[in-house]
This record gives sequence, C-alpha cells and structure tokens, in this order.
Amino acid sequence: MDIKANLERLLKEIPESVNLVAVSKTKPDSDILEAYDAGHRHFGENKVQDLIAKQARLPADIQWHFIGHLQTNKVKYIAPFVSLIESVDSLKLLKEIDKQARKNNRIIECLLQFHIAREYQKFGLSVQEANELLESKEYSEMDNIRIIGVMGMATLTEDKNVIESEFSDLTDIFHHIKTTYFAVNDYFKDISMGMSGDYKIAIRAGSTMIRVGSLIFGDRG
Ligand SMILES: *Cc1c(COP(=O)(O)O)cnc(C)c1O
Repeated sequence: MDIKANLERLLKEIPESVNLVAVSKTKPDSDILEAYDAGHRHFGENKVQDLIAKQARLPADIQWHFIGHLQTNKVKYIAPFVSLIESVDSLKLLKEIDKQARKNNRIIECLLQFHIAREYQKFGLSVQEANELLESKEYSEMDNIRIIGVMGMATLTEDKNVIESEFSDLTDIFHHIKTTYFAVNDYFKDISMGMSGDYKIAIRAGSTMIRVGSLIFGDRG
C-alpha cells in the first residue's frame, strides 16, 4: 500500500470544502505516520482502547475523531484530547461528555449520529429522539459540549439508489436541525457521511466530511 499516493489521489478527487478523516482503526502506528508525514492530521478510530494507546505514542497535533459506539463509562479516557466525537447517540452520553469536558476545562465538539439506513443498525438517533434531546432542559444546561453537525452510515448495499436516498435523508435532517435549533450558530455546519465505498455518492448528497479507511490504508483483513 502506498498510503501517501492513496491520500493524494483521494484529496485531488474531493472538493476542498470536504474534510477527509483517515480511518486508521486496526492499522499500526507506522501507517498513520506515513499519512502524517504526507501532511494529514485528521484520523478516525472506533475503539477507546486503541485510540488512547495511539494518541499516547503518536504526534500531539493529530486531530483524533472518535467514530465508534462510545460507552458512557469510557468517555473519561478520551475527554482530555479527543478532537471530535462523531457518534453521539443519546442524551446520557452527551451529559457524560459534557461532564468530562468540564473536568478537563475544555469544550468537546460532537456530531449527533442518526440511524438513516434501511438495514438494522444498533446505534443512532431518530429525528424525534434528536428533537427531544435538543429541547431538553439538561441539554440547555451543558456548557462544555458543542454540537457541530450530524453523522450517519448508509446501508451496506450495491444499490446506489438506496445509498443516495439515505444520504439525502441525512442532509434533510441536518437542515431541519440547523433551522430549528442552530439557525444563528455558524458552528453547526458538518454532515459526516461517506466511506471508501460510497464517498462519491455522499459528496453529491451534501457531505462535508468523509471517513475513509480501506481506500487509504488497504483492507482490514
Ligand atoms: C470503519 C469505518 C469507516 C471507514 O470504512 P472504510 O470502508 O474502510 O472506508 C467509516 N466510518 C465508520 C463509522 C467506520 O467504523
């Protein structure tokens, strides 16, 4: 795998306005450093254990995105350094992130994860759950989190029409939330959708942030 070449090819292909998160889960430090030396700074991990180990060993200016299911009792381990938690799927989790962010005297940026796929998915909010969260008294009292957008995953399918319609659902959700709750907040701006197999469809549907692993680092065995 020529990681640098893969990265450059991908960056040439996507609009400058779209952020690329290099998903380095299961990959060794040496792979991450190759991308880092090519100038890349945004990396995504989906396991707390792996993320804290890699963060401790790798350069401090890496922007770590947490993209997996996050258990409430593990928030404290990543709160000191995590750059963006992309997978907030409950008020309980958001409360804990706020609490741990306060302890670390920082504001942690988050995305609300939505369940947009036709297929069964364990995690992700419905629009109604998100509305309830954003209208709750508890949310209004949180000072140490900032919700900067939404995240979602499409069904694993070859059917491009299904993928496209799920991604445009997420874009619609983004606009609904933006106009209802964040109309005056410039920071609510991101739609994280698109992976190795479907990032082109995602960008056409309005993605501002793609999370790409295997296309950069190779298959994960
Ligand atoms: C693994 C993963 C990705 C990247 O998947 P690829 O198909 O390797 O690009 C993106 N998002 C999430 C949430 C993931 O778990």
